[in-house]
Amino acid sequence: MEVDLSALEANLRLLQERAKGEVIPVLKADAYGHGALPLARFLFQKGARRVAVATLGEGRVLREGGVKGEVLLLGSLHPLEAEEALKWGLTPSLSTLEAAEALAQRAKALGLAPRAHLKVDTGMNRVGFPWEEAVSALRAVEALGVRVEGVYSHLATAGEDAAFVEVQRRRFQEVRRALGEGYFYHLENSLGLLLHGGENVRVGLALCGLVPGIGLRPILRILARPTLVKRLKAGDRVGYGGEYVARGGEWLATLPVGYADGLPRGAVRWVRGPDGALLPVAGRLSMDQTTVRLRGPVDLGAVFEILSPDFGPTGLLAWAEARGTIPYEVAVHLSRRLPRLYL
Ligand code: PLP
Repeated sequence: MEVDLSALEANLRLLQERAKGEVIPVLKADAYGHGALPLARFLFQKGARRVAVATLGEGRVLREGGVKGEVLLLGSLHPLEAEEALKWGLTPSLSTLEAAEALAQRAKALGLAPRAHLKVDTGMNRVGFPWEEAVSALRAVEALGVRVEGVYSHLATAGEDAAFVEVQRRRFQEVRRALGEGYFYHLENSLGLLLHGGENVRVGLALCGLVPGIGLRPILRILARPTLVKRLKAGDRVGYGGEYVARGGEWLATLPVGYADGLPRGAVRWVRGPDGALLPVAGRLSMDQTTVRLRGPVDLGAVFEILSPDFGPTGLLAWAEARGTIPYEVAVHLSRRLPRLYL
């Protein structure tokens, strides 16, 4: 797997032009399968002021990898996590007073200063203090001695229901008016920013370039060389279930990448050959291998492109669509077994 860091930087710049405030890279789930640690290091070098991940474990991976910058944990802090969040210098998100109390108490015991962002529920009903209670929640958290640095909410329907996006934005604005300008407010995700604009935004999908049509570019490629090239006889059957039956005379290449590497089974239908031609996958994807029908023989040094950094039939969006799912799900399942090169 190759990750194109210059394309990542170009995506970041494009998003920064669109946002009125700060762009917070969202690097949860190993940066949607792209590798959180190398991306975090790179993005901090390129001027990111903070990055966000979901869990304590993800934050710890960044700290253990030497990342010193601000790391926001988007998952709601559980009281049992307070001590570790403090020790690793991670900024937790608070959705409950119990978590705030645990944070304040553990911070006192450790002699550390507790800081957090307040999560506000403006309509998703998943996490966060209800927006109508945001002022009293914030005052209660501050009364415990926790410094609330940021206040944020998350859009439930960006890209799906513009009217409800507006409802959430209005509620968030109301919270902001009531609390005043002493806090760092952030709301929109990728589609929120791209479809509705935004000030301080948290973006994952768009940073990975997985939104077509506005100049963003995917940053991932998966390449492989064949481990075997052979000519089939009429009636030869290929792979599990013998699903592909040879007409006779066609050439086949076996590529050493399969669904254990995160290729979605049943959805990878094409591969690009060494000359860029689209070649059909022949038979079922195996755990570790993919068989491809060639136009003619190639040698074992030939390089095939299994995943292309574009929006065509060998791109990640095509895989997701063929699989009937969202690109996020396909991306986060790209396996750590794939060796990664950051170029
Ligand atoms: N903010 C929060 C709280 C999230 O959970 C996510 C991801 O789902 C994001 C921001 C980034 O979303 P996207 O990848 O759509 O930009």
